[in-house]
Amino acid sequence: MGLLDGKKGVILNIANDRSIAWHIANNVVKQGGQCAFGFLPMEKMERRVRMAMQEGGFGQMPIFPCDVSRDEDIAAFFASVQQSLGTIDFVVHSLAFANKAYLQVGKFTETPREVFRQALDISAYSLIGLARAAAPLMPNGGSIICMSYLGAEKVIPGYNVMGVAKSALESSARYLAYELGEKRIRVNTISAGPVRTLSAMAVGGIDSVFEHVEKKSPLRRNIDGDEVGRTAVYLLSDLSSGVTGETIYVDSGFNAVGL
Ligand code: NAD
Repeated sequence: MGLLDGKKGVILNIANDRSIAWHIANNVVKQGGQCAFGFLPMEKMERRVRMAMQEGGFGQMPIFPCDVSRDEDIAAFFASVQQSLGTIDFVVHSLAFANKAYLQVGKFTETPREVFRQALDISAYSLIGLARAAAPLMPNGGSIICMSYLGAEKVIPGYNVMGVAKSALESSARYLAYELGEKRIRVNTISAGPVRTLSAMAVGGIDSVFEHVEKKSPLRRNIDGDEVGRTAVYLLSDLSSGVTGETIYVDSGFNAVGL
């Protein structure tokens, strides 16, 4: 018996087999969940995502293009999902973008308006866009999760505009939880510690963040993507049926330490 037997949903977006979305998918599939995947429509991405999915043993599951900065992509994505899965029970929002030229220590004050707009649009507004499109496909309620980082609440030098975007994402998750609660749709955030992915490597000074977590966190180590994947299973499954509007930390306890 898997914790997600009989549950169907969508996961956006895997880039490769290091992506947090990949680790979530791997655990969701192990627990009996059935998925459709998004991919960012750019050169060679579909092939890369399919290869990563094959490595996880879920290469046969459907994938559809979705650039979340385009309303028409979100609509087309969920139309394809409806055709292939029918109704769904969960949505995983595991994506973000900011111009890495401004994810450098000492560059926050320089953030141009367009860089700010794009980071907030892709990394935070997209949760609202996806939730709105997904809700009609969730007549039996369900669970939506998104990925955040401590930089939403505290200054992490170099995280910069992405920290502002993560604050907006966490707040959006709470407002969505409030409104979608009537439809029995839960919305929660996982605040993960640093994991070596493509996106993490774009953040200036990231190596010192890994060193700091290893030295200072209660568990004295960094987390891995699989640990995020297993917490995602909890939030997507009925084990967490009473939990919504919550931010759950998977960070070796780092957030709890003041000095
Ligand atoms: P990743 O680079 O593997 O994944 C980021 C994904 O975002 C990619 O699949 C990319 O295609 C997608 N994306 C970017 N722009 C998009 C757009 N316009 N439309 C659709 N998809 C788009 O990196 P990751 O670390 O797995 O990131 C996943 C999530 O986890 C992000 O929200 C990230 O901020 C969050 N997170 C990561 C860490 C970490 O240390 N890696 C820690 C906490 C939270």
